[in-house]
Amino acid sequence: MSNTIVVDRRSLIAGATVLSVVAALRPLQAQEKPMIDARTALIVVDVQNDFCPGGSLAVGKGDEVVAVINALGKRFASIVLTQDWHPAGHSSFASSHPGKKPFELVQMPYGPQVLWPDHCIQGTRGAEFRADLDLPTAQTIIRKGYRPQIDSYSGFTEADRKTPTGLGGYLRERGVTRAVVVGLATDFCVSWTAQDAAKAGLETLVVEEACRAIDLNGSLAKAWTDMTALGVKRVTAAELAG
Ligand SMILES: [Zn+2]
Repeated sequence: MSNTIVVDRRSLIAGATVLSVVAALRPLQAQEKPMIDARTALIVVDVQNDFCPGGSLAVGKGDEVVAVINALGKRFASIVLTQDWHPAGHSSFASSHPGKKPFELVQMPYGPQVLWPDHCIQGTRGAEFRADLDLPTAQTIIRKGYRPQIDSYSGFTEADRKTPTGLGGYLRERGVTRAVVVGLATDFCVSWTAQDAAKAGLETLVVEEACRAIDLNGSLAKAWTDMTALGVKRVTAAELAG
C-alpha cells in the first residue's frame, strides 16, 4: 500500500513539473501576473543626484528611471526609498585610501570592496533625491552607508553581510510578502537589495526598465545571474497586475 502511495506521489511531482514548464513557456495571462496588492512594497533604490548624469558617480542614463518610477509608484500603497548616506571620508571612497583610484578593488575586514569617487555625502546636494522624483505616498526612507567603516549596497544588510538596516523587520511587521525593486544601480545596490529581499523570504521582482547599471567588468551580467539564482524575477512594469 505504501509503495502505491510513493508511486502516486512521484507521478504527481512529474506532472507538476511538466505543468510548470508549460506555464513558463506561455505568455503571462492577466490573472497570472504578479499582483501589486496591499502586501506588495515598492523599494526605490538610491535615486539620488550623485547617481544621475552630472553627479559624482553618475550611472549612464540614470535619470531615465525617474519617469518610469514615478508612474509605477502611483500603483503602490507601500513605498520605501533607500538613500546612500555617507559621512565625508567614508571608507568606500578612493580618496580615503592613499594611492588608490576609483573603481579599484581593496580588501576590507568584511571582504573585497570597490572604491568609489566621493559620493552621496550627508547633507550635500549630491545625496538628495532627484528633485523630479515624485512619490508622495512613500512612507519610509532607509539611509545606508552611514557607518564610516562599512559600505552598504543593500537596503537590508550592510556590506559586512551581518549588520541589518532594519528594513527586513519593517516590512515583516507590515505584513509585506512581495517586493518590487527599482532604481540605481542595477548591478550594485538594486541587485544586493533584491537578493536580500529574496533571502528574507519575500517574493522579489526587479522591473528592468526602472533600473540602470554601472556595468563594471561584467558586473551587470553577474548581478542578473546572482539574482536569478535566488529566485528574483526580472519583469517589466506591464507584467505586473494591479
Ligand atoms: Zn555609496
